[in-house]
Amino acid sequence: MSRRIHLLPETLTHRIAAGEVVERPASIVKELMENALDAGATEITIELEQGGCGLIRISDNGSGISAEDVPLAFARHATSKIAEFDDLYRVRSFGFRGEALASIASISRTELVTRTPEALAGIRIIVEAGKMIERAEAGCPVGTTVTVSRIFDSVPVRKKFLKSENTERSYCLDVITRLALANPEVRIRVLAKGRELFSYPATPRLVERIAIVLGQGDSHRMRPIEGGGAGLKVYGFASQPDLTCATARQIYLFVNRRHVKDYLLNHAVMTAYRRVIEPRRYPAAVLYLDLDPADVDVNVHPAKLEVRFRQPRIVYEAVVEALSLMLRGLAQPPSIEHSHGPSGALEKAPCCGKNTHPGFPRRCGGIPWRREAGS
Ligand code: ADP
Ligand code: MG
Repeated sequence: MSRRIHLLPETLTHRIAAGEVVERPASIVKELMENALDAGATEITIELEQGGCGLIRISDNGSGISAEDVPLAFARHATSKIAEFDDLYRVRSFGFRGEALASIASISRTELVTRTPEALAGIRIIVEAGKMIERAEAGCPVGTTVTVSRIFDSVPVRKKFLKSENTERSYCLDVITRLALANPEVRIRVLAKGRELFSYPATPRLVERIAIVLGQGDSHRMRPIEGGGAGLKVYGFASQPDLTCATARQIYLFVNRRHVKDYLLNHAVMTAYRRVIEPRRYPAAVLYLDLDPADVDVNVHPAKLEVRFRQPRIVYEAVVEALSLMLRGLAQPPSIEHSHGPSGALEKAPCCGKNTHPGFPRRCGGIPWRREAGS
């Protein structure tokens, strides 16, 4: 190993950085679907070959990218979504780091075909292992189609870490499920081997999307949740105590419609259910938290799966209380099929009293509010 300090070539630094964003095919599906959603798409089609290991194609009918911006879209830290640091605390889009397309293109062959509504013709650009190899006009509908193939060909080590095609496919479908749960107004179709695997019609009603994604059987035993307080809305559906699961995988958590994996929120869900379900069993829940973007830091992790709340205790208590309210009143409320879904935010939190929940996990108590977080 050389002991002299030297700058690494750009292609190598890009590939190293890409490792954080693109762990497996499912990460590509997530980033491309989020881009389509950020572009205002109302229809997204996802095509997977070999469980996403062979090819991933995502088409949307969103805003498209103008011809002059297309090469920039592949540059690292190039984004249309934020302009200054404080925008991080106002941002409502899924993306803002300007890393995904650059990362994906550095470890694959990425073809992007796009057209804005104003443009007479579209444009096709192909980038392979970080290098642009083709750019030409193309006839195409308004919107964007990104086709990613030769995934990890330039990073064989990563390829070795991939699991079987079936497992990788299930990771991809997991990502699609979560984004589908958060975006009911978008039609989502999934194709594999040229055939439609499934399709979720667009609906303005969250409850309908949940029922179609989770299946009618389970959703019949889920009840509406509503709670929160000033500046925080907690809503969604959670299972009656007679519907439990062997793992926590059926607990879906969304913060400002972004799917998150959050210890604090999971803990809050389990605290609410502790006395009504058996040990080592888990409820099913689809919970949405809406709060001012200034009260939550999403720039904690490159894949943005983790968040930090400015006031974790208030959030924790609101979730426990909203679920407890449903569990306490189980004799009366209607099941999911009769519900008209969550209504507006409550005026006053029933749950923000001091020390309401001694279950608040210690390790979540002292999280500092990180305005300087991340890069
Ligand atoms: P980010 O989403 O963090 O901005 P990306 O690398 O994912 O970074 O995308 C870079 C830019 O390319 C976006 O900011 C957006 O302007 C544009 N873009 C990417 N995908 C699409 C799409 N499907 N439709 C419209 N614009 C897109
Ligand atoms: Mg993005």
